[in-house]
Amino acid sequence: MEGRLLNGEGMKTAGSAAPARTRFAPSPTGLLHIGNARTALFNWLWARRTGGRFVLRVEDTDPARSKASFEAGLMEDLRWLGLRWDEGPDIGGGSAPYRQSERTRIYGGYAEWLLRHDDAYLCWCSKERLLELRAAQLKAGAPPRYDGRCAQDNVAGVHGTAPAVRFRVPERKVAFTDAAHGRMSFDTKAFGDFVIMGSDGVASYNFAAVIDDALMDITHVIRGDDHLSNTPRQALLYQALGFGMPVFCHVPLVLGADRQPLSKRLEAVSLRALRADGFLPEAVVNAMSRLGWTPGTEGLLTLDELSGVFDLKGLSKSPSVFDMERLRAYNKAAMSGLDAPSLSRLAGISGVPKEAVEAARRNAGTLNELRTLLEPFAGEPAFTEEATAVMDNPSAKAVIRAAMTEVEAAAAIDGSSCGVIMKKVREATGEKGKGLYLPVRCALTGRTEGIELAEVFVLLGKEKLIERLGRFA
Ligand code: GLU
Repeated sequence: MEGRLLNGEGMKTAGSAAPARTRFAPSPTGLLHIGNARTALFNWLWARRTGGRFVLRVEDTDPARSKASFEAGLMEDLRWLGLRWDEGPDIGGGSAPYRQSERTRIYGGYAEWLLRHDDAYLCWCSKERLLELRAAQLKAGAPPRYDGRCAQDNVAGVHGTAPAVRFRVPERKVAFTDAAHGRMSFDTKAFGDFVIMGSDGVASYNFAAVIDDALMDITHVIRGDDHLSNTPRQALLYQALGFGMPVFCHVPLVLGADRQPLSKRLEAVSLRALRADGFLPEAVVNAMSRLGWTPGTEGLLTLDELSGVFDLKGLSKSPSVFDMERLRAYNKAAMSGLDAPSLSRLAGISGVPKEAVEAARRNAGTLNELRTLLEPFAGEPAFTEEATAVMDNPSAKAVIRAAMTEVEAAAAIDGSSCGVIMKKVREATGEKGKGLYLPVRCALTGRTEGIELAEVFVLLGKEKLIERLGRFA
């Protein structure tokens, strides 16, 4: 099996306008979060910018941790963001299959080829021996690396176990140019001979990724900084297999507010959680696009607009912190672009007047907040604990009675009624501030917070005001 591209040292230049083939290669072992979705976004933007193609490849070689439900979930998240792929496990394409678990035979073929050319050897060392070796090296203060026992003294089956396949690492420096970090150089002494196929016949990440990126004609590998240390191993494999190297572009990690890298299991910043919290995909896309890059404006942009200006040259070298407030600001901007019927539909609420939506949107950062603000106008209010406590307060009853009297006496309710009525209630009861306003607000909406009380009055109208106040009078 010969390598198809034989310019092992060849590097395409970053930023070239030639159509790129990029890929997003998630392992289906958890939920997609802002950090790995940002990787998908940058790959998508670069493919679109250059008029190329965006490939989705599922790296499910670890059967213990990979789940079909995670694969389905990440596809759903990508679609929700608007990041459609041109080739992938569900739609196929010229480089199918796109699930690594379905490519085992391909990896096996290349492992045999490396064995035949003596670039790899069988390793019979048991797990126990490798663990002991590692412990001894760490104890001696040396970096843990394979000692090469099977490289010289290869006696089949000595330990009675199935062999792994190890890549023979030449002692030298490996250099490559990274589109974000510039020229990088590593000494191979740091890692030693590494496993490319486990004794269970499963290809290692480095081996499978290199073969797939080469066979799928990937021109740009855009991924997280956490893979930078894998890249020298991958560069050696490209050369040994006779493949041309893609452009590597390692984007700095996204950190949480605690300055720790976002983890896949961190539910709060998973796309699923953000969607459930009522964030719009446009807002999430805009917030993600500003992590380690800037389109030169703070304003909300469409995916098309972003892809029109995206450039690998503008990527930052240092980690960026995901800022929830910024996401909220983008979400408000995205919500302001929608009319009242669309907003209520997206918020899952029906039967509220347009005026209520307009009043609520001023106070809402997410669709969920909008729904909460609108609920008292869609049906009978549900009382929060705080609101119940307010109504249980002995002074509340007098306030409600006085308010009821004034509402009944009012000819009609308009924008100024609330001010006039509450002034009279204050005079009648001697209550002011929270003691005056909270009981009325809670009786009418079931909550201690919400849209302006004057607007609540107008939206409910005289009849409903009397009905809701009447329950507590
Ligand atoms: N499956 C790897 C991950 O999810 C992909 C790394 C790569 O893009 O090469 O981290």
